[in-house]
Amino acid sequence: MNSMLGRRVFEAGAKVRNPTLFQQYDYLKSTEWLSRAELETIQLASAEKFLRFCGEHSPYYQQVFRATGFDPSRFSRAADLSVLPEMDKATLIRENSAIHTSGLNEKLRLAETSGTSGEALAFYRNERWDSAIRAALMRSYDWYDVKPWDKNGYLWGYNIGASQAKKVALLDGIQNRFRLFRYSESEIRRFCHRLQSSSFISGYSSMIYEVAKCVNELELGPLPLKMVKGTSEMILDAYHPESRAAFGKNITSEYGAAEAGLIAFECPYGGIHVNIENVLLEQSNDGELLVTNLLSYSFPVIRYRLGDMVTLSDETCRCGRNHPVLKNILGRKGANVVGDQQTYPALTFYYVFKNLALEKNILLNYKAVQHTQGKVKIFIEGKTNQQYQKDIELQLQRYFGDDIDFSTLYIDRFVNEMKKKQYFETSL
Ligand SMILES: [Zn+2]
Repeated sequence: MNSMLGRRVFEAGAKVRNPTLFQQYDYLKSTEWLSRAELETIQLASAEKFLRFCGEHSPYYQQVFRATGFDPSRFSRAADLSVLPEMDKATLIRENSAIHTSGLNEKLRLAETSGTSGEALAFYRNERWDSAIRAALMRSYDWYDVKPWDKNGYLWGYNIGASQAKKVALLDGIQNRFRLFRYSESEIRRFCHRLQSSSFISGYSSMIYEVAKCVNELELGPLPLKMVKGTSEMILDAYHPESRAAFGKNITSEYGAAEAGLIAFECPYGGIHVNIENVLLEQSNDGELLVTNLLSYSFPVIRYRLGDMVTLSDETCRCGRNHPVLKNILGRKGANVVGDQQTYPALTFYYVFKNLALEKNILLNYKAVQHTQGKVKIFIEGKTNQQYQKDIELQLQRYFGDDIDFSTLYIDRFVNEMKKKQYFETSL
């Protein structure tokens, strides 16, 4: 589908599904270059309006506001929220019906998300909320001269049966996208052929990396893409060089979640800009991010713990936008690594390999596995390299001391799993 037809199909779909989409997009374009102070004023005003609504229309928050003495009409700064309880997915599931609001005169759509722990969260999302996410994405795509209706490649870990395949193909067709179903040379060749006339690619960053590697090995690149968008997982430093060689671009970070909305998007200068018109972020005492989604009128998400370790930064971005930036999206804290004496967060491996990249310019794709206390196997993609080995051991020593016995195994390449990647796996 060419871009003009793509746009027409997109607009027709939006008319039915997201009637406020373009209006919200225009609004976000009008606030794009405001000063930080102006943006914060907008954010606080919209937070106050949202919190007032919750206090009147959500049975759960009526009770919580009463119990904590929180008065939304006196809300004037983010810190005022600190009297409210932090929420997690389990609470959103347990208190589901009481959290839902009534009296909202908008179309609702059921949204579902599954957690790593397996329990699914279902909730109703109002039209403005749904459209706001899409509008914010559209604004971010503009930074790359990309439109959502442009032809695009999609990497997503679905196991699709024959009956579902037709439905998926139809939905993909409407969205002007095509996907890779299998990692075979012929499939990847076909996929790349279609990418030639595409504007962008998106998917789990580890999958983008795997496909990029194949593209480079088969010498099919560089393909002239405008944007390479990685979602839903940590982007390793080792991924960028392969992505640049295959698609001409680093992997751009999109950060969000179904219940939290679009939180941030990386600009071409590398600043991961918070979508401050629509979300309010706090950092909890233990470094985790708390998200308040200012558009979640149907199902208020307030001070929600996504489980990600993120640093809020005060730096300004070279692109000139004053939306605050996030540093170090470290993903889930993850399971613990168990040593003989103590335990360590799985994220420690992130620091080990980040240091190798920053200090030694060693970019590695890795995976750590633990089956026995005090012992961890680290698999590294590539050929055995004695110099790397020395540096890896030094870094591991720095964080784990002698508490864990590490063995490093170099393997030619990781198995392509077509799903979200876990950097640390444990059976303890
Ligand atoms: Zn920027």
